[in-house]
Amino acid sequence: MRLERGRRSSNVEDRRGASGGRMSRRGGGMKVGGIGGIVILLLGLFFGVDLSGLMGGGTQSGGSGSLWNQAPSASSGQVAGDDAQKQFVSVVLGDTEDVWNKLFQQAGQRYQRPKLVLFSDGVTSACGFTSSAAGPFYCPGDNQVYIDLTFFRELQRMGAGGDFAQAYVLAHEVGHHVQNLLGVSMEVQRMQRRLPKAQANDLSVRTELQADCYAGVWAHHAHKDRQLLEPGDLEEGMNAAARIGDDALMKRAGAAIRPEKFTHGTSAQRQQWLYVGLESGDPTKCNTLSDL
Ligand SMILES: [Zn+2]
Repeated sequence: MRLERGRRSSNVEDRRGASGGRMSRRGGGMKVGGIGGIVILLLGLFFGVDLSGLMGGGTQSGGSGSLWNQAPSASSGQVAGDDAQKQFVSVVLGDTEDVWNKLFQQAGQRYQRPKLVLFSDGVTSACGFTSSAAGPFYCPGDNQVYIDLTFFRELQRMGAGGDFAQAYVLAHEVGHHVQNLLGVSMEVQRMQRRLPKAQANDLSVRTELQADCYAGVWAHHAHKDRQLLEPGDLEEGMNAAARIGDDALMKRAGAAIRPEKFTHGTSAQRQQWLYVGLESGDPTKCNTLSDL
């Protein structure tokens, strides 16, 4: 990603080191793995769109006027450490603010920016206490996204490395905030109370897939408006979506694949919806709940 083109958000609250809770990070952690990023080629064929410009693992093609004919980013993977990571999430958050501000404005609505809380080990939010082992999350009760930045190392271990993979995770959580603002979260919860468990679970999965799609919508505009993406980024995102799909996680854990236990959707579904958002940039296309 070309993050030097982005604006840093001022809505980041650093609670690392604060006594949010000292619970073991071991145990209950996600076990993941699964299919690789080759699926993107199939997706490209399926959607009939040429995405080759967004692939290629960082090689710079020479053609002048190429969308990718820019100086390589100095920010990807070269600086380590927490401050660099904090800067990274601040820029990604800032960019989601700019994109969703624009899209809400176009729809005649007002976007309220969420706060991003950095924590270590565990944190108490309006949603109660959450251990880092649960991964990043959004709490609708206080409109805040929470992340322990060590999760990015976890992602790397899952085989889902790369800055765009990290940005996708963050943008997915912001996607839940968008759902909250649009009233989707409340409506889904209302419906879930009336439904049998299996259907209620299916609704959760659809909500998660919509957040993936919204992450893609963000990336579409981040690229269109500020050229934030660079070669290899789309691949990283699609790869991450595959690695964190429920079937991939179950397979990696050596468990049987049980669709009734899915929480976020299969690798293929996650890739598909991330792609829908990326390709269209249109939140109304993220209609994962429309046929209910
Ligand atoms: Zn989610």
